[in-house]
Amino acid sequence: NNKAVATPTRTKEILAAYGFSFKKSLGQNFIIDVNILKNIIEQAGINEAAAAIEIGPGIGALTEQLAQHAEKVVAFEIDQRLLPILDDTLTSYSNVHVINQDILKSDVKQVIEEQFRPGQPVRVVANLPYYITTPILMKLLMDRLPVDSITVMIQKEVADRMAAEPNTKSYGSLSIAVQYYTRAKVVMNVPKTVFMPQPNVDSSVLHLEMRSAPPVNVKDETFFFNVVKATFGQRRKTLMNNLARHFKGNLDKAEIGERLAEIDIDPNRRGESLSMEEFARLADILLPHKD
Ligand code: SAM
Repeated sequence: NNKAVATPTRTKEILAAYGFSFKKSLGQNFIIDVNILKNIIEQAGINEAAAAIEIGPGIGALTEQLAQHAEKVVAFEIDQRLLPILDDTLTSYSNVHVINQDILKSDVKQVIEEQFRPGQPVRVVANLPYYITTPILMKLLMDRLPVDSITVMIQKEVADRMAAEPNTKSYGSLSIAVQYYTRAKVVMNVPKTVFMPQPNVDSSVLHLEMRSAPPVNVKDETFFFNVVKATFGQRRKTLMNNLARHFKGNLDKAEIGERLAEIDIDPNRRGESLSMEEFARLADILLPHKD
């Protein structure tokens, strides 16, 4: 069959032939528009030398396009019912390897070592299951995988939060968490009509370029992320109020005020106005001294 999987007619045919019923609980919304997929692959920078990792291939809509443009594709799919379908739709591609695993429980680093050439640029490309977008992305980032970039279709609202700049409605601890590891950019908004079935939310494609080193140096990363979270705790409260609540019993307001003065940050500001660099200074000055 030389018609692309990502078309309404072919997708319906495949679903009918296998009697496949969507599992909402697995975030199964398949893409039925080849142009969107080609655009995603271009934004991802996939070329014939690239290794691609896909999360959730479904019936192979994106996988097929990746197989045509990348050297090799490894796809993680949790739903066993899709394996025979993928065998069928991807039968003419010898450069695809499907792994029947929950991505959240997979040792992706080991898979990269086993499946790709040493030093080969690896790019993650996916139309993610929306119920676990943030856990998947945070796992990929915190595992510090040897990948160059991550390009994913996700809920528009989450994409906006991940790529947000200070002083915007979407800016929050998720923006800092993602931008600590990557340069984040929303590259495309995607209408609901390109999915089967159509999801309830709007979608965007988010492109994350991995940083080789964090944009700021902090003494203690865990403490830094805790301070960021505390600062955004109650968005309408000031920096001082959020910090005082978080450090209750350890640091009083007078002490916090002194430390803020030392790094030239006004205690009446709100968390959403602080840059990553300011958060780094803030965390370092609040870090308990080890003596
Ligand atoms: N890539 C296909 C497409 O664009 O048409 C399907 C995308 S669909 C939004 C998400 C896919 O992720 C589904 O095939 C679903 O079964 C799979 N999935 C859900 N949870 C998963 C998990 N924890 N690990 C791996 N795959 C998962």
